[in-house]
Amino acid sequence: MKYTFRCADVGMDCGFSIMNASSEDELLEMLKIHAKDSHGLTSIPQEMVNRIKGAIKKSGKYSFSCADVGMNCGFQIENSSTEDELLRELSIHAKMSHKMETIPQDTLKAIKQKIKVS
Ligand SMILES: [Zn+2]
Ligand SMILES: [Zn+2]
Repeated sequence: MKYTFRCADVGMDCGFSIMNASSEDELLEMLKIHAKDSHGLTSIPQEMVNRIKGAIKKSGKYSFSCADVGMNCGFQIENSSTEDELLRELSIHAKMSHKMETIPQDTLKAIKQKIKVS
């Protein structure tokens, strides 16, 4: 999972951006330095931190295989761009191969726990 943030995304007139940090914490630590040196903020107010977190873009590759939730089925999805994309793809497979019109909430929970993110 990679984390990207641009000051412009929270309405700052500033070209600063951090691309592809490996964690949200890493990104926020770097952002503290930028906030202090470029915006004169000795600490980032909580309200601002919340806005920043909302503006952070996460990019990763999402993978899932039916076998991981105990399905006797060779189906796998690899490298979807978002969890939402993967789940929408999976719902087609669930419908056509497992005859599930909708994926039950508890199955969905188990699926989400087995989704691999890289
Ligand atoms: Zn900035
Ligand atoms: Zn399956």
